[in-house]
Amino acid sequence: MSGEQLEAFLDAMPAGQHSMSELFDYVEDELYDTECDHTLRYSMRFMMEQGLNFPKITNWLNENGGYCDCKVMEQVAPYWRAKFGDD
Ligand SMILES: [Zn+2]
Repeated sequence: MSGEQLEAFLDAMPAGQHSMSELFDYVEDELYDTECDHTLRYSMRFMMEQGLNFPKITNWLNENGGYCDCKVMEQVAPYWRAKFGDD
């Protein structure tokens, strides 16, 4: 991602910073002992449990290459963590 794309990515943040960091942690933990089934099932579960705006977040994840849980960790989480840290 270029600096400009990164700006746009972060400006379009679909939920609070804390919620998004927790989402990435949650998905990472779940994928630690389960294979990704190439859907957003853990992301979805987390969003439902937390009452987050899942159409908006899903859209944002998809736009940034996060088509399923493993892609979220591969394509989206590293940029997020580079910016906001790992906690
Ligand atoms: Zn996957």
